[in-house]
Amino acid sequence: MSFKNTYIQRVYDDLVIRNAHEPEFHQAVHEVLESLEPVCNADPRYEQEGVLERLVEPERVIYFRVPWVDDKGRVQVNRGFRVQFSSAIGPYKGGLRFHPSVNASVIKFLGFEQIFKNALTGLPIGGGKGGADFNPKGKSDGEVMRFCQSFMTELAKHIGAYTDVPAGDIGVGSREIGFLYGQYKRLTNEFTGAITGKGLRYGGSRARTEATGFGLCYFTEEMLNSKGDSFKDKRVIISGAGNVAIYANQKATELGAKVVAMSDSGGFIYDKDGIDFNIIKEIKEVSRLRISEYLNYRPGAEYHEGCSGIWSVPCDIALPSATQNEISEKSAMSLVKNGCFCVSEGANMPSTPEAIKVYFENNLLYGPAKAANAGGVATSALEMSQNSIRDSWSFEQVDGRLQDIMKNIYRRTAKAAEKYDLHGNLMAGANIAGFEKVADAMLAYGIAY
Ligand code: NDP
Repeated sequence: MSFKNTYIQRVYDDLVIRNAHEPEFHQAVHEVLESLEPVCNADPRYEQEGVLERLVEPERVIYFRVPWVDDKGRVQVNRGFRVQFSSAIGPYKGGLRFHPSVNASVIKFLGFEQIFKNALTGLPIGGGKGGADFNPKGKSDGEVMRFCQSFMTELAKHIGAYTDVPAGDIGVGSREIGFLYGQYKRLTNEFTGAITGKGLRYGGSRARTEATGFGLCYFTEEMLNSKGDSFKDKRVIISGAGNVAIYANQKATELGAKVVAMSDSGGFIYDKDGIDFNIIKEIKEVSRLRISEYLNYRPGAEYHEGCSGIWSVPCDIALPSATQNEISEKSAMSLVKNGCFCVSEGANMPSTPEAIKVYFENNLLYGPAKAANAGGVATSALEMSQNSIRDSWSFEQVDGRLQDIMKNIYRRTAKAAEKYDLHGNLMAGANIAGFEKVADAMLAYGIAY
């Protein structure tokens, strides 16, 4: 038995049986259910009205064929996914991931987490996620375009500005969003905000590109401030070198920190003088090259093969911003041993349950993904608002809203933890605060929802 509450244990056991071979989904649900024990103990309505068993079952799951033709004229077939998990408090909202590791388990774990994250933003957005087992790496622009057009030919039937609003995630950046939105527009004959992360010239929001990385740092700064500390003069390591990692580097640097290490899926770089995010942007965002190229710009820096080595670099603050389960128990112990006192998550579920245990045992400041990386989706919701009223806000306006949202997420999360005597446990606080909002709506709708 992993739970003391028998209702929660029953829900979890059923979930494992009904979703066999989906370990990431089990992991994400387990973490949330564990946090909800005091909430369900205090209020019997959640069990009486079957809220948890309804919540862990997606409202709708769509799997679809994505056929396309590569540059050699060969037919390729990928598998597309969209999990519309919960529309209790707004249209389904969550990114699209294109990566060979994508499967039902990964998309369901991401969609489930998205419900609580979106609720935490305070904005009216439900939870969903999608993607495909397509690898954009090494593909020509033409191949990526043909894949995106075929993917959207099916997805367009299921999304819409008031139904489901996808965005980017791993492997889906501005190029892919352009191809996807172009095809959506063509198929529906509508110019509506059915996708976010759009280019500025065709309905995108200022500061959306920066939002997840900036938001991560705003949240982390607030968490540090609560202990009388800040980013100033801290050594920071950031895994990944994609959308989240690049802008986390920019903001952490602006807040006075020095980012000494970053990685991609091949290895990591170390620069004792601080990694220049503009160089990483040029290498990864513009030229789509490997992070090892950094040494051509900064010969004094070091490159090491293997991305997990980054967790042995001495630092004060770690911002994992690459992918799920990238920090194992061993990596977490190595972080602690080398002086790290704060881990704040840019990626979704980057820490294994064993790693999280190490953080708590060693009293680290721990910013869980649902709260810490919610700035991206929050700014996507601001893009939806601008699209609805046919307006475009300044960078300062959007960035100002983002800062307020992240501070409020920190407060909501800390307050929910306090309410159940879980002082400082922001993981439980984030799960509880997100849950209470969604569950209240579910209770109001009655059982057929
Ligand atoms: P990108 O595709 O822009 O970048 C991902 C980065 O992580 C790349 O540097 C990639 O390396 C590295 N990476 C990917 N998979 C692995 C792996 N298996 N092992 C090691 N490194 C890996 O993605 P994002 O920056 O958008 O997303 C990163 C994380 O943040 C994901 O967990 C995503 O779900 C989460 N997130 C993203 C949001 C957003 O707005 N973009 C919002 C909230 C969360 P390489 O270049 O070699 O492929």
